[in-house]
Amino acid sequence: MNKEEYKLYIDDVIRRVEFARVRFDEKHIVKIVAISKYSTADEIKALYEIGQRAFGENKVQDLKAKSSTLEELPLEWHFVGNLQKNKINNLLDINPALFHALDSLELAHELQKKLEARDMMLEALLQINSAKEESKHGVMPEAAVDIYKQIQKECPNIHLKGVMSIGAHTGDETIIRKSFETTYNIYKQLEGATICSMGMSGDFELAIECGSNMVRLGSIMFNKL
Ligand SMILES: *Cc1c(COP(=O)(O)O)cnc(C)c1O
Repeated sequence: MNKEEYKLYIDDVIRRVEFARVRFDEKHIVKIVAISKYSTADEIKALYEIGQRAFGENKVQDLKAKSSTLEELPLEWHFVGNLQKNKINNLLDINPALFHALDSLELAHELQKKLEARDMMLEALLQINSAKEESKHGVMPEAAVDIYKQIQKECPNIHLKGVMSIGAHTGDETIIRKSFETTYNIYKQLEGATICSMGMSGDFELAIECGSNMVRLGSIMFNKL
């Protein structure tokens, strides 16, 4: 695709987001984070040139490599992957705009120690395993509200902004919808929360219809479906 064709292609993705958000609420605003984990720095630059600013990676080393290669561009970097304890310092060195996958109280405490030592803040989302899948990270939905409040109380250097979830891994739309509704219901119970991050290339319209206001789109934004 040349630049003009790519722009038309992205316009169409944006149009799909627009239609879905209006189905939820006319005043609902949705942000697209382009997940670049399968894409090169050149591909990120091409998407930047047609207007995309927020990008995300799921491996700390990739986030580090791509954000430093592209440091001259005014990009906003998100980290959406599972964070191992031994990678905390590397992530904090990069100081991402938002960490989507805070998935346990234990990790929050580890982060808090390192953040305090550096006298820095980290904006983060609590990841919820809303379909209770073995293969997924995140806190159980029943425990989510309490854990969220506990992190707020015990980790003053973590600024929780809301929740993140990955839709149920199934072809059954009813089950996927239910997993998004579970996350959205938790989000609504959190005082001051402003971000509900859910929806990927295969299920973003459904996620937005269930109240998502941040979609993490990888393959579709880079035309790799
Ligand atoms: C890869 C990834 C995405 C994007 O996936 P696509 O299906 O390519 O849109 C979103 N969120 C997380 C946490 C990911 O790891």
